[in-house]
Amino acid sequence: MVVHSASERVLAGLDPEQRAAVTAPAGPVCVLAGAGTGKTRAVTSRIAHRALTGEVSPRHVLAVTFTARAAAELRSRLTLLGAAGVQARTFHAAALRQVRYFAPRLLHGRGMPELLDSKARVVTLAAARVGLRTDRAAARDLAGEIEWAKSSLVEPGEYVVAAAKALRDTPHEPARVAEVFAAYETIKRANGVIDFEDMLRAAVWGIEEHPDVAEQVRTQYRHFVVDEYQDVNPLQQRLLEAWLGGRDDLTVVGDASQTIYSFTGATSAYLVDFPRRHRNATVVRLVRDYRSTPQVVGLANAVISQARGVEARLRLELRGQRPPGPEPDLRIFTDEPAEAAAVAARCRALVAAGTPAREIAVLFRTNAQSEAYEKALTEAEVPYVLQGAERFFERVEVRQAMVALRAATRSLPGDLPLRDAVAEGLSAVGWSAEGAPAGGAARERWEALAALVQLAEEHAATPPVLPIGEAAAVQRPVTLSDFNDELARRATQQHVPTVEGVTLASLHSAKGLEWDAVFLVGLSEGTLPTTYARTAEQVEEERRLLYVGITRAREWLWLSYAVARSPGGRARRPSRFLPQLDRSGGGGPERAKAGGGAATKRVERRRPQVVSCRICGATLVAGPDRKLGRCPTCPSDIDEELYGRLRDWRARVAAAQKVPAYVIFTDATIVALAERRPGRPEELIAIAGIGPRKIGLYGETVLALVAGATVEEVCPEKTFEIDP
Ligand code: ATP
Ligand code: MG
Repeated sequence: MVVHSASERVLAGLDPEQRAAVTAPAGPVCVLAGAGTGKTRAVTSRIAHRALTGEVSPRHVLAVTFTARAAAELRSRLTLLGAAGVQARTFHAAALRQVRYFAPRLLHGRGMPELLDSKARVVTLAAARVGLRTDRAAARDLAGEIEWAKSSLVEPGEYVVAAAKALRDTPHEPARVAEVFAAYETIKRANGVIDFEDMLRAAVWGIEEHPDVAEQVRTQYRHFVVDEYQDVNPLQQRLLEAWLGGRDDLTVVGDASQTIYSFTGATSAYLVDFPRRHRNATVVRLVRDYRSTPQVVGLANAVISQARGVEARLRLELRGQRPPGPEPDLRIFTDEPAEAAAVAARCRALVAAGTPAREIAVLFRTNAQSEAYEKALTEAEVPYVLQGAERFFERVEVRQAMVALRAATRSLPGDLPLRDAVAEGLSAVGWSAEGAPAGGAARERWEALAALVQLAEEHAATPPVLPIGEAAAVQRPVTLSDFNDELARRATQQHVPTVEGVTLASLHSAKGLEWDAVFLVGLSEGTLPTTYARTAEQVEEERRLLYVGITRAREWLWLSYAVARSPGGRARRPSRFLPQLDRSGGGGPERAKAGGGAATKRVERRRPQVVSCRICGATLVAGPDRKLGRCPTCPSDIDEELYGRLRDWRARVAAAQKVPAYVIFTDATIVALAERRPGRPEELIAIAGIGPRKIGLYGETVLALVAGATVEEVCPEKTFEIDP
């Protein structure tokens, strides 16, 4: 039977543990596993298997996750597995849909209040109202605190205690933050607007306080799935419980080592405690990594093995299943434009060698870093897609295109193949199959239309197979009007179709996704970890972010950082999360290997000959720089007072011996001493330019000076009276 074999096909692509998760009986299921081990595959297969065997109806399944891209990934995997029709959304999108739908009923005919897309403006007003002056960064920090509090179900009156309990690193006195929080809520209410957390709360309230709403929602959704469950926050968990209404047909999958949203209130505790809270749960653990080469897996294991804290307790050592691939590459550049240009050149080479551009991603810590890469890729003529920038369906050309396609349903013959109909319809808004025109904006416009044509091709290839269980084999060609409905659906869901280009995205938004080649850029202290990571927990979260980034790569992995932001700028250190990586290649785009395996060992044997800048890690070539122990451009952390005393002392000794000062110690050595403040003879030896002879002559005196002795104390007057 068709249906039967389709469900068997779903099982055929799984290992025994994944199969156990897929075929577990109705009821709670928890998959606890590392990156790339097939959690998402297992959970989508479970939905498809249950749908194809008729155990559940796809219409009654709600699958939720945290980023729009991950939700799109769930949808496309479900479609491929033959389970189209399942709702797969972010928590926000699912809640928004329900709140919009029920608003008129709950608000006596009024629609949903306007949704604030950013808190910053209202926070600034609220801060001013309580007498706090804020700039943009301060407003952002306050908004972050309010978001954390609301996601953690903390009211303004409870904030002070809750923040202390959670060891929050608050931007102001907690009591002041609480005042801003209260004022923020008042201003919002007075203006009839709501924020994202209010919207989630409204969804909870709608269900918890209105039996008719609860019944309707619960009749619609009977089986729940949460991917990336380690990133659920208490507010989202409350919504999940409201949806469930005491039922337990819930499958959760997650990896505590990939918890990267705790700064917003997310906690892996719900995932970790799931088996305890649901005694009858089927618990499955996966360790085989199907995504990445052993080289990538080795580096991922090495990075996460350094992790500390609660999330680290559950970490699993991944076992790579793929054939070996290239060692991860670590590259160090003098400045960011050089780094971006090298990344763009490498992308271009990969594409030329046959890697599709959509299989390449450049990932960074903050969105502001994207600009350099946009520019470099444009110059290298490599197409790219900026994730999280202007939403695809909000772009003017896309909205115009959708209008044109609607009109085309009336003017074009109904039996035209979908792709042709779409291409024809889009010619009205300037689409031409001949390729992208010149000029940045024109090209972008063309690429957006091309994405719609590509979408039509994909859509024509996967005609609707509905309804499952009855007539699975009945398929009809997709019409232009089906396609228009699909576009409208995606527009509301913000599902951005993949344009053929290199993905530029933040590490946060890359969660759950994978590419053949991944470039992790800007790996310097201050960026990863960000300077905003102050507590140990925050630093651990940054480490997990790097782990998430590394585990996105199937085959090629590149990690790089630039010593300075712009040419000649202030120097930065490499990220502390890269302890095993070679620091060679400081000045130029030199190459070093980064990996958990043989490459690292080779590097370590070489290390003793290399003198690295202690500030930025660059290899020092010039003699004076080697003596100094840092690049001349790197910031000096010199002890000025000690420097003065050392120079004083040197002048006196040189005068006494009637030799030039540099014979005693060169300027560079004096600077190095004042910067490094050696406390023991071994530390003196470590300073280039101080050998055993100098230690014998001056070691004790220098150590005494560093320890605080005055020049008079180490040079008794009479020394200088011999020969004034
Ligand atoms: P993440 O933690 O990053 O979300 P994940 O655990 O959800 O990862 P998946 O994305 O489901 O992992 O799987 C990673 C890759 O391995 C995918 O390309 C998937 O198709 C493939 N894969 C998963 N399970 C198997 C399997 N049993 N055999 C072959 N390939 C598999
Ligand atoms: Mg996944």
